[in-house]
Amino acid sequence: MRKTYDVVIIGAGIMGLMTARLLALQGQSVIILEKHHIGHMKAASSGLTRSIRCDYSDPFYAHLALQAQDLWRQFESDTGCNVYENCGLVNLASPTITSDLKQSYAVASQPILKLLGKSNPGWRLPDVFRTETFSFDKTGGILKFKIIRETLARQIASMPTVELAENVAIQKIDTDGKTVNVSPANGESWVAEKCVIAAGLWGADILRLIPAYAQLDYGLQIRSPKEVRYFDITPKRRNTYTTEMLPVFACLDMGVYGHPIVQGYTQYLKISHYWPPTGGKGTGTESQIDLFVKTFMPELAAMRSFPVTDADQCSYDYSQDGDFILGYPGEEKNILIATGWNGTAGKFAPVIAAFLADLTMNKAVNKEMAKRFDPQRFTGFGET
Ligand SMILES: Cc1cc2nc3c(=O)[nH]c(=O)nc-3n(C[C@H](O)[C@H](O)[C@H](O)COP(=O)(O)OP(=O)(O)OC[C@H]3O[C@@H](n4cnc5c(N)ncnc54)[C@H](O)[C@@H]3O)c2cc1C
Repeated sequence: MRKTYDVVIIGAGIMGLMTARLLALQGQSVIILEKHHIGHMKAASSGLTRSIRCDYSDPFYAHLALQAQDLWRQFESDTGCNVYENCGLVNLASPTITSDLKQSYAVASQPILKLLGKSNPGWRLPDVFRTETFSFDKTGGILKFKIIRETLARQIASMPTVELAENVAIQKIDTDGKTVNVSPANGESWVAEKCVIAAGLWGADILRLIPAYAQLDYGLQIRSPKEVRYFDITPKRRNTYTTEMLPVFACLDMGVYGHPIVQGYTQYLKISHYWPPTGGKGTGTESQIDLFVKTFMPELAAMRSFPVTDADQCSYDYSQDGDFILGYPGEEKNILIATGWNGTAGKFAPVIAAFLADLTMNKAVNKEMAKRFDPQRFTGFGET
């Protein structure tokens, strides 16, 4: 006899796993289908660390980030795992990078941090930094993604109403509006009342397997980090570069950010350079990481560094308007999509998962999120 579920979740990244956990905690039966395996290198939720912060110039995202931080703390107390290393985050700025400092992220982020009460005027800049001005987000820090993935995988394995099927190749998805039938290339299909497509940048490809969405195109731009490098800090200076002493650091004007060493968890300091979706700064030939080091952290120039090959081999999915794509792709209320993360959604995962779980269970959801992230804003589905 074919088994049926309340919900089929496609994708076992952070969004799929967290949503499955929340649904199972509320008594729902869930099957998670994953094309590869949890934590594989191309999934955006792979790797060791992700930044967490609330210094978004858009107050909507800043408030959402604060909600997410509370939920990460809740996750820690529910699971007994420490996943949120709250070392703060500093934004750096120099006139050699941003000629008008008033236009720098470091200056632009100050009002929102003050408004939220999350700046820390008494904070002293560590002496490893050279900077003209800076802002400090005291909520900032590092999320330990490997521990989060492992914790979620362990929890899900112990929940009687959740199943996980890895190495699954989905070929077809059918829905009559009441049930969803997901069929692999061979073998038996999975049937559920609802389907959550939480497959990151592959979400739209999966939606296109449903005849009604065969032509759907969100126009996502896919980009990989331009450069990611580890710095091997000399033993004498190592303590200075750990989260006990150093916050997460960034010059977002040049698309560069870095993570200090997390004692007992990471071995190296990491600096990344990403392509901003608009092209933006940092598209010249000089390594922006070298330029960042020269400008803001000169001591690092003398330390051994090498490209990261064990993490962050994954890609960003930028939506056309910079907002997430989250909700019903069309009129059917049994299919949901979650994609378009703009390289920033990891920290929001508990809020996004709660939204998906509530919507799946027909509960009330945050109206502003529903409106702003509505997938139908691109496609015209549902327009009258
Ligand atoms: C390099 C990089 C750095 C980032 N840094 C930060 C940061 O510092 N802070 C922050 O907050 N966010 C950051 N992000 C964003 C954050 O990591 C992602 O938004 C988040 O991990 C997305 O999770 P996800 O579950 O939606 O996607 P994924 O982790 O990609 O999971 C999707 C899953 O779906 C599976 N899948 C795909 N197709 C199918 C199919 N046909 N059938 C079944 N399964 C399928 C995939 O195999 C994958 O496992 C970063 C992202 C990248 C790429």
